[in-house]
Amino acid sequence: MLNIEDIRKEFPILGETVYGKPLVYLDNAATTQKPQCVINCISNVYKTINSNVHRGVHHLSQVATTAMENTRETVREFIGAESTEEIIFTRGTTESINLVASSFGTTFLKSGDEIIISTMEHHSNIVPWQMLRDRIGITLRIIPLTADCTLDIESYKSLFNERTRLVSVTHVSNVLGISNPIKEIVNIAHNHNIPVLVDGAQSIPHKKIDVKALDADFYAFSGHKVYAPTGVGVLYGKKKWLEAMCPYHGGGEMIKTVSFEKTTFNELPYKFEAGTPDYVGIIALGKALEWVKGIGIENIAKYERELTEYAVEELKKIPGIRIFGTPDGAAVSFLAGDIHPADIGTILDRLGIAVRTGHHCAQPLIEHLGIPGTIRASFAIYNTKEEVDIFINGLHRAIKMFE
Ligand code: PMP
Repeated sequence: MLNIEDIRKEFPILGETVYGKPLVYLDNAATTQKPQCVINCISNVYKTINSNVHRGVHHLSQVATTAMENTRETVREFIGAESTEEIIFTRGTTESINLVASSFGTTFLKSGDEIIISTMEHHSNIVPWQMLRDRIGITLRIIPLTADCTLDIESYKSLFNERTRLVSVTHVSNVLGISNPIKEIVNIAHNHNIPVLVDGAQSIPHKKIDVKALDADFYAFSGHKVYAPTGVGVLYGKKKWLEAMCPYHGGGEMIKTVSFEKTTFNELPYKFEAGTPDYVGIIALGKALEWVKGIGIENIAKYERELTEYAVEELKKIPGIRIFGTPDGAAVSFLAGDIHPADIGTILDRLGIAVRTGHHCAQPLIEHLGIPGTIRASFAIYNTKEEVDIFINGLHRAIKMFE
């Protein structure tokens, strides 16, 4: 049995008030709050071992380097990768996807080639491919949705042809809280010998990830959505792809030798890590993942699913509420009658309840649904049924004000 009250005590921010009301934080899909051990970790690195990594023979540099490289091993184990060579530190999901678009694109793609993405992608899994399209003339093929907002797998199958080069899809929709059948999506692509990038921004905090079992070619995630600090993320890539791909950023650390005539590149994973990394954030990412491991990702997933199901049940009791899709994770998106989502969000805010409203960086999905945006409540391990009740009561009050 999880003791949620004890877990809550580890998050100092949950004791804050907003407009004199206790904070009810239901915007976890945007970013999670940080436990004290992660906050302490950042402070302790600066207090005791701060030194630039990988470059020094002196003690502090070596200790900082070891701590950073320990996180690489923690990440490797957390997502079930084969080797730490396949774990690249980035600034987050966005940079991880941009890295693949740039390096995979430069190495393997040419005008007329095709990439498959889906209708429910976050902008960070759309725009990098469009930029590549405008640079080299590739074509984007879009997986449509079924009436219940799931990916239309039959249509997906029909998008493959001899010009297809990559599939890039989200594991879990940040708007709908729906998990995509990623293993099936990968299998279908692999039957055509096509690699798959999985946007794991919304799956890493809520699911046991095993990149080898999924057989994903790339898996991208952000630390800040899984209790770690902002500014650090990960790109997992199969070694065979990463070895073949050209570097992304040029600079220190990613090189073996440099002369004005010729530069040779470092081995994996450093080939993709130019410049001073956010080693403090990376070390704290390791702490956050250890913290998650201590609770157990399956326990977290089960608890959050129950909380989300409870929220969905309660929402369905409110007349005029329209829920989009059938969420199976930790987020639910809805509208209340014709009331603009931003109006509801503003009133909930005054009651101390933080939800996100708008297009959630997924404008094509919102356009497909033909709505101005949604109200999204998204949950983490520290949320409670009582908070769901406060949210539902707040929603009743907000709706009444507009009646
Ligand atoms: N993909 C999805 C599905 C997301 O939810 C997010 C964050 N909202 C991102 C990508 C981008 O993540 P970041 O801003 O941390 O790079």
